[in-house]
Amino acid sequence: MTTDTTHSIEAIRKEWGTRLLILGHHYQSPAVLAHADVTGDSLELARMAAASQAARIVFCGVHFMAESADILTTPAQQVFMPEPGAGCPMATMADDYQVEKAWSFLKRQGDDWLPVVYVNSTARIKAFCGRTGGSACTSSNAPRIFKWALDQGKKVFFLPDIHLGLNSAHDLGIPDEQTAIYDYQKPDGGLTPEALKDVRVLVWGGYCPIHVNFTVADVQAARQNWPDAKIIVHPETPKEIVRMVDAHGSTAQIIHYVQAAPDGSTLVIGTESQLVKRLAEVHKNRLTIKMLKGSFCPNMAKTNQQNLLRILKDWPDRNQVKVPSALIPDAKLCLERMLAL
Ligand code: SF4
Repeated sequence: MTTDTTHSIEAIRKEWGTRLLILGHHYQSPAVLAHADVTGDSLELARMAAASQAARIVFCGVHFMAESADILTTPAQQVFMPEPGAGCPMATMADDYQVEKAWSFLKRQGDDWLPVVYVNSTARIKAFCGRTGGSACTSSNAPRIFKWALDQGKKVFFLPDIHLGLNSAHDLGIPDEQTAIYDYQKPDGGLTPEALKDVRVLVWGGYCPIHVNFTVADVQAARQNWPDAKIIVHPETPKEIVRMVDAHGSTAQIIHYVQAAPDGSTLVIGTESQLVKRLAEVHKNRLTIKMLKGSFCPNMAKTNQQNLLRILKDWPDRNQVKVPSALIPDAKLCLERMLAL
């Protein structure tokens, strides 16, 4: 950590006071999180952005998160990212043209569908979802939002993460035969009307490159190396792995699981490595925490103290994240439905 940079950032934060809010996602480095007013997962940070009165919000995370902050704040508030090139590959796996095509295909089948979109999606996809009556969800509340849609007698069209979709359906007791995958690289998702007949949850074929790194062999190796350990993974991990470990949960749920673990126990965690490293450090006097496998998100790592300081000094236009105003009402509806549920 550069001491001069640290002092400069802190001096600017002091000068701005409550007019500035710095939000830090759990996958950021300790050097960046040292300057955050709030550290949280995407749901917690979305709530903070929505409640904030700060004139400027700096989002240390990835692009879709800053977009959500811009959607949920007033036009007078400005949202910036230290590195606007920090995107999420999963979010870009569903573009609005492909999604509109898929939606037309589903509507032609005559069933009553409702979209549910993971917050890890672009503002355009959120606007599509809001416009068509659906809701956003996070990895913490996905099963609850699916239930909200299913209880209305609808079929769920979930995007963009295949694994969160299949794991959430399984959490609700929906058999695999009542789920299907929409392969966006194939015409009509590679589906026929017949194949969709009994489907209650249809999931888009996107994925997180960081969480699909974990394999069955990694779990078998962990069981051998630490036979008494509990293993927990994030639900963006493929279902084969989720079904063979002791628990699965969102970032916030993993943190709670660690906090509640009995003293002296060993935990093996399958999620982004920056978070696992921090948990191991925080709980080192009480728990042994191991990574299921090292898997760092390179996009989260694009934010550092240097680009954080640069933005706080110069506020360059290119670092402001501004969702087109035409998208905001529908995208806001999509996020607000989730926040209200
Ligand atoms: S960890 Fe995965 S879902 Fe999260 S920002 Fe990185 S690529 Fe996207």
